[in-house]
Amino acid sequence: MIDRLVSVAVPVPVLGLLTYSVPSGQDMPVPGARVIVPLGPRQLTGVVVGHLSAVDVAFKVKDIVRVLDAEAFVPADVVKLTGWVSDYYLAGPGATLSAALPPRGLANRVARFKTVRVVTLTERGMVRLKADTTAVDVASGFPVRRSPGEGGSRTLPGLGPKQVQALRLLADAPDGRPVPELAAAGIVAATISRLAGLGYVAIRNDRVDRDPFEHAVGAHTPDAGGSRRPLTAEQQVAMEQLLPLAAARAFRVALIHGVTGSGKTEIYLQLADAVRQSGRGVLMLVPEIALTPQVAALFRARFGTAVAIQHSGLSDGERHDQWHRIRAGAVDVVIGTRSAVFAPLANPGLIIVDEEHDTSYKQDETPRYHGRDVAIMRGKFADALVVIGSATPTLESYTHAIEGRYTLVTLNRRVLDRPMARVQVVNMREEIAATGAEVVISRPLREAIKIRLDEGEQSLILLNRRGFATAVVCRQCGASLECPNCSVTLTVHTQGREWRGRCHYCNFTKLVPKQCEQCAAPYLERIGFGTERVEAEIREAFPAARVARVDRDTVRRRGSLVEMLEQVARREIDVLIGTQMIAKGHDFPECTLVGVISADVGLGTADFRSAERTFQLLTQVAGRAGRGERPGQAIIQSLVPEHYSVRLACDQDYRAFYDKEVEFRRAMRYPPQVAMVNVVVRDQTFEGAMATARDLATGFRGAKGFVVLGPAPAPLIRLRGEHRVQLFLKGTSRRAMRESLQLALSRLNKGTKAIAVDVDPLSML
Ligand code: ADP
Ligand code: ZN
Repeated sequence: MIDRLVSVAVPVPVLGLLTYSVPSGQDMPVPGARVIVPLGPRQLTGVVVGHLSAVDVAFKVKDIVRVLDAEAFVPADVVKLTGWVSDYYLAGPGATLSAALPPRGLANRVARFKTVRVVTLTERGMVRLKADTTAVDVASGFPVRRSPGEGGSRTLPGLGPKQVQALRLLADAPDGRPVPELAAAGIVAATISRLAGLGYVAIRNDRVDRDPFEHAVGAHTPDAGGSRRPLTAEQQVAMEQLLPLAAARAFRVALIHGVTGSGKTEIYLQLADAVRQSGRGVLMLVPEIALTPQVAALFRARFGTAVAIQHSGLSDGERHDQWHRIRAGAVDVVIGTRSAVFAPLANPGLIIVDEEHDTSYKQDETPRYHGRDVAIMRGKFADALVVIGSATPTLESYTHAIEGRYTLVTLNRRVLDRPMARVQVVNMREEIAATGAEVVISRPLREAIKIRLDEGEQSLILLNRRGFATAVVCRQCGASLECPNCSVTLTVHTQGREWRGRCHYCNFTKLVPKQCEQCAAPYLERIGFGTERVEAEIREAFPAARVARVDRDTVRRRGSLVEMLEQVARREIDVLIGTQMIAKGHDFPECTLVGVISADVGLGTADFRSAERTFQLLTQVAGRAGRGERPGQAIIQSLVPEHYSVRLACDQDYRAFYDKEVEFRRAMRYPPQVAMVNVVVRDQTFEGAMATARDLATGFRGAKGFVVLGPAPAPLIRLRGEHRVQLFLKGTSRRAMRESLQLALSRLNKGTKAIAVDVDPLSML
């Protein structure tokens, strides 16, 4: 019989919870404390997730080596949350813990500060400065006074004007000035080292908290945002619904369904303010900070340094600093992307999930969690109000709301009675019949862009497909240029004068050959089009226009997206072309035209959510037009304008779309009607993957509460050189699916098999 047992998660993805004993005489570590444990020949840092009651164990339990924290390092409620995540999503506790912590989060000592060189004036420098000042005085006609003890300035080496300027600047700063600050004043490093060499200045290293806000978020908030403003009547009604829920200190979810431009952000701000005043913390999730800089900037403007901002653009060290600042209680508002849901914020009273429909909330590697759903669980554990908001809520969330599980808050109108954009559909079948199959930009769209350029107004042009062309096909044998590692065709990109094929999954790239690799015929044709092609056509049609393109190819460099969006906000861009990146929450008051090159990109894919995605994207992008004083217009090009997702997005009729779509899901038994789990087995060979998948499937025999579809080849049958076979579980009992799956997985031979389990998948590939 062994007692004094603790269960420990270590940040090693494949490992489950480990059991260790605590030597007598040693205090039991609290849940959330870090401990050093032996694992094979190594020692690792892990986190205690709980105490175990004394058990008879057949195996030998090892002692922990050392307890690092007397108090919880990872707050207890975050430990509980990660436990829920690893159960619900069938992910290892190690992987989940790693996802919840900043990089190298468990390391015993991490350089948490960056250092900055600070220059101070020495006594010798002070004397020299005085002497120099005297000399200047001489020049202006005042009597010369020699400095005592220095033998006179004439005996010292002459200082240049920059050097004197540096000494003057330092004379005003008893604590010294950081090197970057001096650099900003035009004083270069060489000047400083020369002064140091003469003993006039000293240099020390200071540790400073990195301020991730510096380069994180553009400060181009259109309105200063510092003070709360009078609410519109609809916003007022919404607040009257939400404030009592926040004050109740009980778990509740509210869905704000507010049309684009209805002023959801102001509601978040005022609600956050109320919750802060009541002494509780606020956690806000946004899809991607760089894409919604204004929201973060508004929170910063209103709450100042009490706000911590977390996002993927931060360096490891910066994320580390933030985590510790939050944990130390230095902030009471945390804004961040998906993983911020695990922020060590004490006592959250309000958790906001903005743009809850956004697919970037779902992590596409283990643990495959959905930030919104984890946020809701966190709210449940913390007795907090969870507010999720969108102009185009997911079917899942809206169903919860109309069935009464969530409180529904509706904003039907734009603030200040600004009209919604006028939407016009261009039937591209007719356009092709009139002007030829090569048409990318229709006549009405071209005309509308021209009018905007003449008026000095901005246009936003969306095409949710990167590259120049979607494929290269041989006109003789029909072969296309394919990725050697993945079962997809290569997308064509231009690079100077070169044509390059690139795989959008594995990044394989090669020059487009002059002749077909199969039949050697020289008739290679580029088919389909992407954002690069649109850019080329716009530049050709409007040579004087200032054009920019935003997609994953142009925003590789950190910060470049923010820069580009700021250029748009400063009106240095007339036409902005981009993928769905430009459809998100930006508020460009000067944009009066939105053009959608092809509404059909997402339709007709194997995904049952394709209509929902199309509706969301079109509604969101049309919502970018006319948010300022001038009314907006949207022009949507489509080959299937009669499709309900296109038609109802043009009408901006969410409810009609919801009713139609939910009926389809019910008929086909898709979420939200049922729950799904997607299991993908990868292997070096297709047969190997299939054999493992079959093994797994036999483990489900006789299971109740769900059905098993497959195994079958996955739509992406090959990815990064591996073959992929897929199984779907579909049913009303998530629990039955989870338990059967756990059992089936444990029955498989452990070893090299790569199996990805995706609970509530958003991608069916
Ligand atoms: P949503 O997120 O609902 O699409 P926003 O929160 O971006 O809408 O608000 C749209 C615009 O309306 C923004 O420019 C915002 O500054 C402005 N706005 C919001 N609330 C008010 C208000 N009460 N009075 C005046 N302007 C407002
Ligand atoms: Zn590839």
